[in-house]
Amino acid sequence: MSIPYRPGERVDSAALQAALAGLDVDAGAAAGARAAADYHWYSPILAERLRGRRPDLVVRPRSVDEVLRVAAACVRQRTPLTVRGGGTGNYGQCVPLHGGVTLDISALNQVLRIEPGWASVQAGVLIHDLDRAARAMRQQLCMVPSTARVATLGGFIAGGHSGIGSMRHGVLADPGNVRRLRVVTLEDPPRVLDLEGADIQKVHHAYGSNGIVIEVDVALTPAVDWQHSIALFDGYDALLRFGLAAGAATLENRREIDIFQLSAVERRITPYYAALRDRLEGADAMFAQVSPQTLPRYEALAQAMGGRVVARGTEDELIAAGMPSVTECAYNHTTLEALKSDRGVTYLQVAYPAPLDPALVARQMQRFGDEVLMHHEFSRSGGALVAFALPLVLYFDGEQLDTLKRSFELDGCRIFDPHTWVLEDGGMKQVDEAQLAFKRQTDPLGLMNPGKMRAWDERVLGRPGGQL
Ligand SMILES: Cc1cc2nc3c(=O)[nH]c(=O)nc-3n(C[C@H](O)[C@H](O)[C@H](O)COP(=O)(O)OP(=O)(O)OC[C@H]3O[C@@H](n4cnc5c(N)ncnc54)[C@H](O)[C@@H]3O)c2cc1C
Repeated sequence: MSIPYRPGERVDSAALQAALAGLDVDAGAAAGARAAADYHWYSPILAERLRGRRPDLVVRPRSVDEVLRVAAACVRQRTPLTVRGGGTGNYGQCVPLHGGVTLDISALNQVLRIEPGWASVQAGVLIHDLDRAARAMRQQLCMVPSTARVATLGGFIAGGHSGIGSMRHGVLADPGNVRRLRVVTLEDPPRVLDLEGADIQKVHHAYGSNGIVIEVDVALTPAVDWQHSIALFDGYDALLRFGLAAGAATLENRREIDIFQLSAVERRITPYYAALRDRLEGADAMFAQVSPQTLPRYEALAQAMGGRVVARGTEDELIAAGMPSVTECAYNHTTLEALKSDRGVTYLQVAYPAPLDPALVARQMQRFGDEVLMHHEFSRSGGALVAFALPLVLYFDGEQLDTLKRSFELDGCRIFDPHTWVLEDGGMKQVDEAQLAFKRQTDPLGLMNPGKMRAWDERVLGRPGGQL
């Protein structure tokens, strides 16, 4: 068996470029800098530690055959390969830590088939484009990240977790949401493998460290003309209690209220939404997408629980009225709204024990004072109603973040740390043995996105994980 690649090995760029002759290759500094940019700058810690990390070459394959050529060349030349989709990840996922090739998947963007209940696409398709194609056939995606206009489906599956729609359809990992992945391996010679059922989890959220996803079969659901709604409450506690009541009414066996998105944002954050500032009245806000048929019931519940609806309409109607889509008021777009005018903030990701206890959140707000501003996303996971927070943090230093994380954990919450590039340290906090075993098989030299999987560094290379 060949010896695995060790970070720091010299890459023979001339030989690599010769092997890639005829492909769309850019070895320029500008292309390298673009290929290394994603949204890790939301974290001051990652911004500092990942500065200057970039690829030696950017290759943009135009066909599966070209992907296979790039894979074969990287194996032969022992060159790291990092896949890049839309580059919207938050943890430096597509920042190559040790140079090599960035494989830009964006030209593999074809919608191959749309059937009732599912679509087959190339992995570089923009999520928004696929959703539009599905809607032309009266279907839609079950969930999208709030970055759907710029993110790829392959990147969502390799780097994402859940999104708008998770309130109704669960998280990406829930069975049936992703039906098949076709991946190219970094073996000699590279192989093309299809993964279905539970095997999909070997590659889902593995940061492109154990296979190049080239095709995806993804679930579709009948299209709904979602009504975007903004409801205001006086008090975050009241807002969360409304979220729990509305969420309970949307669970599949009831669907009295059919909700696609339910995002709670507290009053110290809402003033950051520049385009909505006048409408939000400095109050606590619920950003939601609700089916037209059940919107009256949703609004009646909001009113009965002390809320007032200040905006409603389809996405196009809101945009025509000078407002953003509520899709872009949620998930990490909330952090983005704050960062546009205040570079002193960063964020955490916190999963709460189910069911969410608003009294716990109230205690935390009291304890953290002005240091932590609350934002919760309601979602379903494994069929249950869950909530996780993306609170804004007034940033001082890494020690402060560690203290906050510990404090949340003592409350029984789970931290999905957005200030690390290491896969296991983000959310899992443990080795995913299936992902590691798959990497041993598909990437025996350890060339894919090296430095991201702690288990590989520690068990195979015998070096500490999380090292640059
Ligand atoms: C404002 C904002 C809001 C966000 N909201 C959400 C949200 O709602 N839900 C959510 O889950 N995430 C969210 N994210 C994170 C990110 O946008 C999503 O996960 C997104 O879907 C990533 O897609 P991408 O094409 O940009 O992937 P990239 O950033 O290009 O890549 C992500 C990871 O996947 C790997 N990868 C990409 N393509 C492939 C491939 N074809 N084969 C193998 N590996 C691949 C990369 O190497 C990298 O490790 C948000 C980020 C921002 C900045």
